[in-house]
Amino acid sequence: MYRMRSWSVRNARWLKSLYQGVESTLFFLRPVIQKIGYERLDKPMLAVEKITKGFLLDSQNCGQCIAGFTGLSCPMNCPKTMRNGPCGGVRADGKCEVSPEMDCVWVQAWEGNKRLKEAVYPIQKLQPALDNRKIGTSAWLREVRNREV
Ligand code: SF4
Repeated sequence: MYRMRSWSVRNARWLKSLYQGVESTLFFLRPVIQKIGYERLDKPMLAVEKITKGFLLDSQNCGQCIAGFTGLSCPMNCPKTMRNGPCGGVRADGKCEVSPEMDCVWVQAWEGNKRLKEAVYPIQKLQPALDNRKIGTSAWLREVRNREV
C-alpha cells in the first residue's frame, strides 16, 4: 500500500531497529530452524513476510531484501527495479518518471536514510544485481544463512 510505504520511510529509524531485531531473533533461533529445515520453513516464512513487510513496506518479496540500506523504501517498487540509485528520469518534483502519481522510490530512499541518523548513509553501499532465482523466497531465512557463513 503506497500510503504505508511512505509512512514507513518517515518512521525508518525505529522500523529498521525492529527489522534488525526480527533478524537477530531468527538468528538466535537458528538451531530450531536448522532442525526443521530451511526448505520446509521457506514458504511459511515468506507468507509472514508478505503480510508484515508487504503491509509496511509494500515489499515485493524479491528474497534479497535491501530495505535496511534504502531507508525502508523497497526498491522493487521502482518500475525499472533500480537497485543502486535512481534512473535519470526523476521529475523535478521528486515524482517517478514512469508512474508520476508516486514519489520516486529513490527520493524516498534518500529521505529514509536521512531519518536513520547513522554516521554513514547505508544507501552508499553498492548492491549486487537482482538475482531472479531468489524472487518469491524468504529474505529473512536467507539472512540467517548468510550470517552463519
Ligand atoms: S524515477 Fe525513480 S522510481 Fe521511477 S523509474 Fe526512475 S528510479 Fe525508478
